Amino acid sequence: AKQKSRGTISLYQPEMDQQIRDRRVLHQDLSKAIKNGELSLAFQPQGVARNSVAESEIIGFEALARWQHPVRGQVSPAEFIPIAEESGLIVEMGEWILREVCREAASWPKPMQVAVNLSPAQFMHGDVVGLVHSILIETGLAPGRLELEITEGVLIEDFDRGLALLRRLKSLGVRISMDDFGSGYSSLSYLQAFPFDKIKIDRAFIMNLGRNPQSAAIVRAVIDLGHGLEMSIIAEGVETLDQLAFLAKEGCDGVQGYLLGKPLPIGKYADLVGRGEAM
Ligand code: C2E
Ligand code: CA
Ligand code: CA
Ligand code: CA
Repeated sequence: AKQKSRGTISLYQPEMDQQIRDRRVLHQDLSKAIKNGELSLAFQPQGVARNSVAESEIIGFEALARWQHPVRGQVSPAEFIPIAEESGLIVEMGEWILREVCREAASWPKPMQVAVNLSPAQFMHGDVVGLVHSILIETGLAPGRLELEITEGVLIEDFDRGLALLRRLKSLGVRISMDDFGSGYSSLSYLQAFPFDKIKIDRAFIMNLGRNPQSAAIVRAVIDLGHGLEMSIIAEGVETLDQLAFLAKEGCDGVQGYLLGKPLPIGKYADLVGRGEAM
């Protein structure tokens, strides 16, 4: 038997050593990734929820981090963000991401919205308010165009600090959305307690819309609940016209997903941001 980091005992498995070595190497590589210019951003369009793709006007983008590893190729953020979180690298990386996103959006001829993900460590341990404030000034991005996405897990750790941070961020003029709503231990009291502007319904519910009636009931309820609290609702992971039509019919405000567009370098959406034809 072997001791794992969380203090649980498990049977010895050779693959475990390999996984730990992989993570350690990946961590070393990640610490050089910013300096080496291996990190970049992909932008995924967000549209108004209407009956057809043509009517679902694009009004903003979510920025998503991408890592092009020199040997492994593209590494998924689902893999490298947690490594960056645990090692504290996320603070430096998150700062880079936020600055790049704001700089990029400030350069668009059209004043589109832009959303960026804040990780729990970045939110709870860094000076996130000071950082957002100084980057807005530095880049000249209008605060009203920036949206910060956080997951509810962040707030569970320290309710009072979470609430104070959200209020201070909002006083800068940026908007806050609750990401992945419904995926964790979402409690309704969080929605009442924290001043979110927007709820992002987790992809899992959208994926199951056509398959089980419970998902449809939940999505409908979240839309009503959010509107009752004067929050706007966006659905994530919209892949089909049936899903889009359902969301439009139920009064969902926004949609994001492969149906409207995949996360791509902004050059692919040049026309949408007013920079002429897409490359
Ligand atoms: P997320 O914030 O929930 O981002 C949405 C994820 O869903 C993205 O995965 C996106 O590519 C994917 N997606 C969007 N539309 C569809 C669809 O129609 N179908 C399917 N199957 N997937 C769709 P991605 O880019 O791999 O990012 C994964 C997660 O990594 C993100 O989940 C977020 O939690 C984290 N992440 C990505 N970029 C950043 C970042 O810059 N900072 C932080 N802190 N986390 C990030
Ligand atoms: Ca997100
Ligand atoms: Ca999400
Ligand atoms: Ca997610």
